[in-house]
Amino acid sequence: MSDTTFSCTRCQQRGPSLEKPPFPNALGQRIHAGICQSCWQQWLQKQNQLMNHYGLNTMDPDHRAMLLDNLKGFLFNEGSTSQIDTSLEGTITHISK
Ligand SMILES: [Zn+2]
Repeated sequence: MSDTTFSCTRCQQRGPSLEKPPFPNALGQRIHAGICQSCWQQWLQKQNQLMNHYGLNTMDPDHRAMLLDNLKGFLFNEGSTSQIDTSLEGTITHISK
């Protein structure tokens, strides 16, 4: 397996991808597929800042949700859409009519 052609969706740079998904879920796969090690390290620093600033605890579901929101904003530029209930991911609201 060679990732030399891996191109990061965030910084648009070519670089090593993560060795494995950081989370055992779809988001982890997405990060693994699109985010380079450098950007991930930047996020980990940002996460530490957030945790220190807000006194977050990764064992707390609410805090984890907040960190995930920030993660998506940081890595995928999706953070501004706050109030996304990740428990509803995969469900599609019927908007026909
Ligand atoms: Zn990157």
